This record gives sequence, C-alpha cells and structure tokens, in this order.
Amino acid sequence: MTNLGWKLENSYTELPNIFYSQDEPTPVDSPQLVFLNGGLAKSLGLDPQALQSEEGVAIFSGNKIPEGSKPIAQAYAGHQFGHFTMLGDGRAHLLGEQVTPDGKRYDIQLKGAGPTPYSRRGDGRAALGPMLREYIMSEALHALGIASNRSLAVVVTGEPVQRETIYPGAILTRVSESHLRVGTFQYARQWGTEEDLKELADYALERHFTGYEDVENRYLYLLEEVVKRQAKVISDWQLVGFIHGVMNTDNMTISGETIDYGPCAFMNAYDLETVFSSIDEQGRYKYGNQPRIAMWNLARLAESLLPIMSDDPESMVEVAEKTVYQFIELYKEHWMEGMRSKLGLFNVEEEDETLIDELLTLMKDHEADFTNTFRSLTLGELEGMDLFESEGFTNWYEKWQERLGRQDESEEQSKKLMKQSNPSIIPRNHRVEEALEAAENDGDLTVMENLLRVLSKPYAYTPDQEEYTKLPPESDDDYRTFCGT
Ligand code: AMP
Ligand code: MG
Ligand code: MG
Repeated sequence: MTNLGWKLENSYTELPNIFYSQDEPTPVDSPQLVFLNGGLAKSLGLDPQALQSEEGVAIFSGNKIPEGSKPIAQAYAGHQFGHFTMLGDGRAHLLGEQVTPDGKRYDIQLKGAGPTPYSRRGDGRAALGPMLREYIMSEALHALGIASNRSLAVVVTGEPVQRETIYPGAILTRVSESHLRVGTFQYARQWGTEEDLKELADYALERHFTGYEDVENRYLYLLEEVVKRQAKVISDWQLVGFIHGVMNTDNMTISGETIDYGPCAFMNAYDLETVFSSIDEQGRYKYGNQPRIAMWNLARLAESLLPIMSDDPESMVEVAEKTVYQFIELYKEHWMEGMRSKLGLFNVEEEDETLIDELLTLMKDHEADFTNTFRSLTLGELEGMDLFESEGFTNWYEKWQERLGRQDESEEQSKKLMKQSNPSIIPRNHRVEEALEAAENDGDLTVMENLLRVLSKPYAYTPDQEEYTKLPPESDDDYRTFCGT
C-alpha cells in the first residue's frame, strides 16, 4: 500500500448514533480521475502524485476505503423552500476528518458515491457536468476570499446516470471545516433528546469556536457566533454578486462556510430581483433576499437551541430573538465596510450610504454589469457602458471624487484598496458552460483548466484575464440553473 498521506479521524461518529448511519459507498465500474486539486491536497498533508495512483483513484471513487475511515451518511432535517422535512445525506458519504500537518481538521466527503439510508427515491449518484460546475464555483468563491468548502477531486465512474437523459456519472470529493448545518440542529430538536441536542451543540462549539468555556450561557453563545459568521459570509456574497440559489436550512453551515453549490450563479447586471434557479419560481432565494433568508434560517437555529439554553426556555425567547436580529446590524456593518472598500474609501462619513445607494440605483437603471462597473471604476476606464454616458453618473462621479479627496489616503492607496476589493473576473455563466461543454462533449479539460487558472487570482488584474471579463454576446439573464442532477 502506498502512503497517500491520509490521517483520518472520525470524531463525528462519537456523537449519539441518531446523527448518522454507517454506510459504505457503492463501488463503481471503471473509475478515472478527471481533476485533482494538487494545491489543496498538499495543504491537507496528502501526496498529490500518489493520489493519482490506482489506489488514490479507487478512494475518490468509493471503491476503496482509506485507512482510518469509518464511512457514514449524516442525518439532518431542514426547511426546503419554507417546508420542514427530514433529509440526510442522500448522495454523500463522509469518509472521516483529515487532520492536517498544522493540526486542522477537515471533513472529507464523497458526493455521488451511491445510495444511503437517506436516499429516498434518489439513486445516490451525480452527473459529471454538475460536479465540475460545483468544483469551479466552490474554488472560485474560495479564491475570492469567501468562506467555502473546497473541491479536491472529480472522478468519472464509467457508469451512466439517468436524468432527463443519460449522463456520465461522476463523484466529487469535497473538503469542509464540517458539515454541521442549521438542519442538523433542527433534526436534533425534532427527533433527539435534550441530551442529544446538547452533545451536538458541544461538538459544534469544540470544533468551530473558542471562548465558550468562560461564558455564562454557552448555547446562547453558539447562536451569537453563528450569527456573526453568517453575517460575514452573506455580506461577502452580496459584495461580489453571488447568488446561492437554494438557501434551505440544511444548506446553511454552523462553520459559516458556503456549501451546496447546486443552482448558484453570479449576477450580471445589478438587480436585486436576480434569480437563476429553475425551481425558485417565487424568487424566495433571489439576490436581494439572501440576507433576509439567512436571518430566517438563523431564527430556526435559535428555536432549535432554546430547549438547552435554559430550564425555562420561554425565558430565553426574547434574548434569542435579539441575538438573531443582531444579524441585521452585523450584516450592514460588513456590507458597508465592503462597499466603502469597493469605492476606495478608508474612513467613515455619514453620507456614504447615500453615495453607495445612488450608484447602485444608477447601475440598476442602466442595467450595468455589477462586476464590470466596479472593475472599470477601479481601473479608471469609464467607457463601453451606458451607465458611464449618463448625466446621473457624471454627477455621482464628481461627488465620489470629492469624497475621495476628503480622506487622508492617496489616490494610489485608494486604487490599491479597490483592486483588493473588486474582483476583475468571476465565473461568468457562459464561460462556465463553455468549460463544461468541452469537458462533457469532447473530453477536453483544457478549457476548464484555463478558466480555473484565471479564477484562482480574481484580484490580479493581469492581461490574461481581460478575455474573461467580457459579457456574453447576448444577455444571459434568462440563464437557468438546476439542482439535483
Ligand atoms: P440539496 O438540494 O442538494 O440540498 O439536496 C436535498 C436532498 O436531496 C439531500 O438530502 C440530498 O442528499 C438529496 N439528493 C439529491 N440528489 C439525490 C440523488 N441523486 N440521490 C439521492 N439523494 C439525493
Ligand atoms: Mg443540501
Ligand atoms: Mg445539492
């Protein structure tokens, strides 16, 4: 046996057994490695070279269980589009937690490795296109500096999966700080004992947070900390125009990482109403709703934690509510700070919010591309967009320049801040589709490799990125994304 570098532990399986089912991946026919994230592998203490061996590929395909792994499927519940239901990993197996050379712990999960006790009518499998898409989007978010799970490898299984038509089957290996979700707590609250709930909460505290030993109420503290993390990650999404697409409570983590890249996509023209997901008919998860939905989800977490916050849970309702409402302020703080940075502003002035709102209103009115507007402002290249020709913009621009002039920092410092805060490139829908088509139809991975290379440095503003900043030939506002394939 070669030494691939696996150092797997299984701390999650020490939780009460209602939280998971022991379950092994179902072996596949003829697995082949499609993509390996060498950099990520190294940082996990794995050997990228050795992972490409037959044994490495067997592990990524579920045909071989690595040493130290106790494969499980996790149990959880969740509100899906507002409706509470029992869920669980229907097509994911947790192999265990890789302990890295610097002592960090990451879940290693196979997505698409066959059915589990929670699969219901599903086949437990995944198609190549959506797995490559998830790889691109999650790595793009990570490179943007947004908390996210990562993608380690994609294999094709050599087996077909049946959806509307037949697709090549694939398995994605994902890496996360954990897969504890708001929905895991809802599950414990609904079907577990108070003791189960406490064990879960203690586990979450130990795994993701510090400082809880000294607080008066550690479960209230847990809620406060999750509210903080979510306020940060959701504001990070808004600041780059990322639309998750399916913010069900089972898709919201306790760690604050972005997970579950199904129907997500980036907004083109600035519009709070933007929604891409084909199943989101009411626009529940549209761009402008994401902060509100996050808070709604956090209220579900608060409800789940109430029974262990006090012997008299009623007495905690008010403070729990206040904690959830904290989200609004924290979110706003992060968002304002982010928007100021996007405009090169270091200090705070009362009128900043108006300045920002005015720009966004102009962008909306002129259907200005969100990313490219800020990119152009950063570069000082104000051409090629209707927005820049408008009188409204000219007035706004003057105000902005005056505002910049009122701070101590130099123009150069402002430009630098803007470059760090405004991505030059994002995974544009037509580019992602192009990469997936080449991979799926022609077995050509170079298009995706090139895309991933530029996406890995979104703030670099290098000439090779220029090509990727272009909009599609025709508006793709009617672009539709799908989950569950
Ligand atoms: P998601 O919308 O990705 O959060 O998925 C919702 C639920 O459906 C989760 O419990 C998934 O595990 C499950 N699921 C999605 N696709 C499949 C599939 N092909 N087979 C089994 N379960 C699935
Ligand atoms: Mg999910
Ligand atoms: Mg999904």
